[in-house]
Amino acid sequence: MSMGEDYYRELKAKIEKLRNEDSLEHKFHEFWKLGCTAKYKAFELKFLYENSSREFVEKYKEQLIKIREECIEDLEKNVEKCMKVMKKANNMRVYYAKTNEDAHRYFMEELGGTRVLFKSKSNEAKDIGLIEFLEEEGIELIETDMGDIILELMEYDHPTYQLGPGAHFKEEEIVQKIKEKHGVELEPNAQAIVDYYRENFRKELLNKVKISLTSANAISADDGTIFLGENEGNISLLTRAVDTHIVVCGITKIVPTIIDALIITKIQERINNVSFRYISLISGPSNTSDIQGKQVQGMYGAKEVVVIFVDDWRIRAKEEDMPYKDFLKCISCKSCIYLCTAFRAFGNLYASKYGIGGPMIIRDYIHNGIEAAVKDGLFLCSGCENCTNWCPAGIDLAQIIRMLKKEATDNNLCPLTLKEYQEKIINEKNPFL
Ligand code: SF4
Ligand code: SF4
Repeated sequence: MSMGEDYYRELKAKIEKLRNEDSLEHKFHEFWKLGCTAKYKAFELKFLYENSSREFVEKYKEQLIKIREECIEDLEKNVEKCMKVMKKANNMRVYYAKTNEDAHRYFMEELGGTRVLFKSKSNEAKDIGLIEFLEEEGIELIETDMGDIILELMEYDHPTYQLGPGAHFKEEEIVQKIKEKHGVELEPNAQAIVDYYRENFRKELLNKVKISLTSANAISADDGTIFLGENEGNISLLTRAVDTHIVVCGITKIVPTIIDALIITKIQERINNVSFRYISLISGPSNTSDIQGKQVQGMYGAKEVVVIFVDDWRIRAKEEDMPYKDFLKCISCKSCIYLCTAFRAFGNLYASKYGIGGPMIIRDYIHNGIEAAVKDGLFLCSGCENCTNWCPAGIDLAQIIRMLKKEATDNNLCPLTLKEYQEKIINEKNPFL
């Protein structure tokens, strides 16, 4: 029996849980099935702006594809240029981490004796294993995104969708947990919950945060400006009301120009039908030259801005023409899951520890190999190619997944029926069992 068959059995047992109305898998699935349909429908509507999100994305898609192709083509050159300008003109401290472990080390150096860290938009930090590493080091990590706060409150550690990660919990469930944990009774409505956290958390964000961690939506190589889009205002506070703001991100976040960075950030916003209430453009620590023209760093905003760029697999994927090289173009908009047949059918059973859907299974493959991808539910992918047809960056995601399935099959990691099917075709030139 193939090892794949064992994994497939485990997966089938999990799929059974989807039928149980009380299971976390079922609740997540029910919410996101509707959520995906609503998100996709909203893509066609003109309810926010004069143009629909589809019209907006179509207008810039060709440009985006060109940006991403050029960005990967000139990756090393852009990294060098960006780091130079960040250090020289922007007064930032910048690191190039060849590996994830290097990034962990640089981060610890920057933390110094600080043991409490406030964070937001930290998927990249999760991706490079920094969050796990910091937890092991005993650093207290404080979430500031409402969705992550809900996950923490509900003690939810299953894979979830990174945009609105706690959206599948009902208000009644949330206020019940707040009562249990904090002894506070709230009306079971979103406004009351938000008011509670605003009242209790905002002061802490403004007064206690010494060091904060974020990623970036995009970074321009020509002037080293970091783009951060958000709607809650927590990122604005985390990047201003701190001594040190640390940005951790992959080198593929760097794009040639500030206009390219803006296009990417706006596409990430529009393709998800969200409204970024704030887009921060950060070009260094706060400063003033108002006393005798002498420049002093650290006025009301951050005193220091530190950037840790992570290579890890990226340059190698390009140089060695790895099968997932195309994935370097991903802008992490996370919108391909709205149309993903596997996600719609199986919810968060089609996911890795990095998040939901095909892109996060590819990430797991890159970091942990083919067996990890199979365990994530690689073979739940129907091959429908919706992701490929949708992707604004022009990535053939379905083709990458096909290559992973082939590798899994060659290594005896596919479900038994598929192996039998393959052998039948090879031996008898007949696909029918
Ligand atoms: S692969 Fe998915 S997450 Fe990446 S850019 Fe394309 S649609 Fe967005
Ligand atoms: S090809 Fe696979 S990953 Fe892509 S949308 Fe279809 S089921 Fe999802």
